[in-house]
Amino acid sequence: EKLLEIKDLKKHFKEGRKVSLKAVDGISFDIYKGETFGLVGESGCGKSTVGRTIINYYKATGGEVVFKGKKVNENKSKQDIKQFKRSMQMIFQDPYASLNPRMTVKDIIAEGMDIHGLFNSNKERTERVNELLRVVGLNEEHGNRYAHEFSGGQRQRIGIARALAVDPELIIADEPISALDVSIQAQVVNLMKKLQRERGLTYLFIAHDLSMVKHISDRVGVMYLGNMVEIASSKELYKEPLHPYTQALLSAISHPDPITERKRERIVLKGELPSPIDPPSGCRFRTRCPLAMDICSKVRPQWQEVRNDHWVACHLYD
Ligand code: SF4
Ligand code: MG
Repeated sequence: EKLLEIKDLKKHFKEGRKVSLKAVDGISFDIYKGETFGLVGESGCGKSTVGRTIINYYKATGGEVVFKGKKVNENKSKQDIKQFKRSMQMIFQDPYASLNPRMTVKDIIAEGMDIHGLFNSNKERTERVNELLRVVGLNEEHGNRYAHEFSGGQRQRIGIARALAVDPELIIADEPISALDVSIQAQVVNLMKKLQRERGLTYLFIAHDLSMVKHISDRVGVMYLGNMVEIASSKELYKEPLHPYTQALLSAISHPDPITERKRERIVLKGELPSPIDPPSGCRFRTRCPLAMDICSKVRPQWQEVRNDHWVACHLYD
């Protein structure tokens, strides 16, 4: 069952008068109810912009976002807008920056409930906040404190509690563990997994590193310079990456291949990430691709399903 359908989504930013930054340039994918979809790519590839355009924080330049059969980025009733806002919540890489330093933790958590009128009395509000604090591994007393009094991992727990407070269906997590110590990362991922099981949540989990999404994702999408280059189930992607960029990313993970136990040969990409203001013609990855051919500079590769549920954009599979 599709919860979210992204169709040819585009988000271009005006830089100065003329130049347009093509942060997201025509990507399509679906997210199924109850799954975790990992979205991966180097910084600047547009993955955060995808998340923000889905929740309509950025207005899409083109394409469609369809949530439970309804278009998000289109004129609709106030009621619908409110419902979308409630159904889709975000958690961020830097929970501190997203937590108001002058509000107590309990007021931060309750803010969405206040906006959406999700309680009938102050007693009910307090009870719900206390329950949320427990659910994320904090306690009542923590509710009276301020964000700066907490560690990074605890702040992320507060961010998660705030997202959960309005009973969302989709949580867009934008690099939620990237800023945390390695020892804390697993704790936050495990908490997210537990909450997913208990509450039937669906996640879009954004990360810059394939090793971070590996354990949490059912399917993974790989972005490069505003384009999606490959989508497959997590298992298949790690076992048999088809796109040269995915292959290079995987080769950079130092762990041995989970299936063969062999270490992959390291593929070092040449050159720098080109500017999205003036991306290469044809395949955007061609300036760094070890397998580039003549056609790659001339024709943008088609987004094609080369195996069951395994999509790739690369002329090697034409
Ligand atoms: Fe490399 Fe060409 Fe495939 Fe692009 S289309 S990834 S340049 S082989
Ligand atoms: Mg980002």
